Amino acid sequence: MSYQKIKGTPDFLPEDTNKWQYIENHAKEILARYQFKEVRTPIFEQFELFSRGVGETSDIVSKEMYDFYDKGNRHIALRPEGTAGVVRSYVENKLYGPEHHKPLKYYYIAPMFRYERPQKGRMRQFHQLGVEVFGSSNPATDVETMALAMDIFKSFNIKNLKLVINSLGNIETRKIYRQALINYLEPHFDDLSKDSKERLYKNPLRVLDSKNKKDKEIVAEAPSILDYLDENSKNNFETVNEYLEALDINYEIDNNMVRGLDYYNDTIFEIMTEDPDFGSNTTVCAGGRYDGLVEEIGGPSTPGFGFGIGFERLVMLLENMEYDFPEVAALDIFIVTIGKETNKEAIKLASVLRAAGLNVEREFLNRKPTKQFKTADKLNAKYVFTLGENELNKGTINVKLLETGKETVLSLDKVSKGNIVEYLEEIENSLKD
Ligand code: ATP
Ligand code: MG
Repeated sequence: MSYQKIKGTPDFLPEDTNKWQYIENHAKEILARYQFKEVRTPIFEQFELFSRGVGETSDIVSKEMYDFYDKGNRHIALRPEGTAGVVRSYVENKLYGPEHHKPLKYYYIAPMFRYERPQKGRMRQFHQLGVEVFGSSNPATDVETMALAMDIFKSFNIKNLKLVINSLGNIETRKIYRQALINYLEPHFDDLSKDSKERLYKNPLRVLDSKNKKDKEIVAEAPSILDYLDENSKNNFETVNEYLEALDINYEIDNNMVRGLDYYNDTIFEIMTEDPDFGSNTTVCAGGRYDGLVEEIGGPSTPGFGFGIGFERLVMLLENMEYDFPEVAALDIFIVTIGKETNKEAIKLASVLRAAGLNVEREFLNRKPTKQFKTADKLNAKYVFTLGENELNKGTINVKLLETGKETVLSLDKVSKGNIVEYLEEIENSLKD
């Protein structure tokens, strides 16, 4: 019997996890600057949370859910996105209470599950870096949160990014606009794609989002939702534009842009890469305002704003630009041992060095010294400590800085009793000259 991983799921081996850890750590620094705090919610929840939260007509709920009945006959789903779970947690833990500073700013980096056709950049288990802000309807929150997303990409020196924004107005606006859009599309019904025909009465805004060429031609002339905004939404959108300009963030307005999830209102946005190797106009981040969702999920009326970055796509962007990922757990010292008698001293030495905070690997297989040195090189060790019979008798250790190949001898006593970290810093310079 042989086993394979389930279609569309990933194994991340150390070459990958090093990149992932590096990107996560780096992103977390940016998130800290904006004072976002991490939340971790379960990877499965009640099915209804998603069908309510994300919307029955969305692709996610209608086609892509991983749902099942557990042994207690509960309808469960693996989370297809992060927002619904965080909102559920916000409501269940009463985080709207007065003891919490408003707005609340949360983030997560977590796996999501969607039953999709696996292909490059599209997996059944994938990851999102998402943020959610609760309790501010200030357009400055929209802009600051979009700026955060842009900052995350820019901090890795990713160029050719495009921020695209639109406003969906409020529920009332969407109702009126929905009808206007149906009225416009109906005479074109026969020319619409099969998907768009289906969406026309269920969720006509999604027709605007169609990737079909003929659909695109038709919707190019469709009425713009921006002409239907009420005073409040119009003001908000203008303020968002003004603040983006104040931050010198370039953006485009695309009045045909909608989001696949049903809960958004007013500002929505996407960040796209124009990197031609990547398939230009690939969305790497998407989000917007969702002022009705907390109430929909049973909490008090609370404005919200969030986004999700497709983590795999972020990793791929960096790989494409040949980003130089530093080793997260870089090796400080490799201990070469010559002769079986050194085994006991080597295990003690490694233990002392690790206790001093150094990253240490050693030889376990008693191979020839040349092989061991090759390994030290391959593992990118900074120093090689050599322990042979000679050293053992004299109570010393041979220290080599691989960068220059220069060597020195230290007393084993000094290494185990002194401050080895300080010590290495001192001798590093002498070994560099
Ligand atoms: P798409 O139109 O590409 O299917 P979406 O509207 O379903 O996108 P969202 O639900 O907004 O995407 O998710 C936000 C981001 O998560 C996307 O921009 C993308 O980068 C990433 N993403 C979505 N689905 C997948 C997947 N199956 N595999 C990998 N990344 C994904
Ligand atoms: Mg999708």
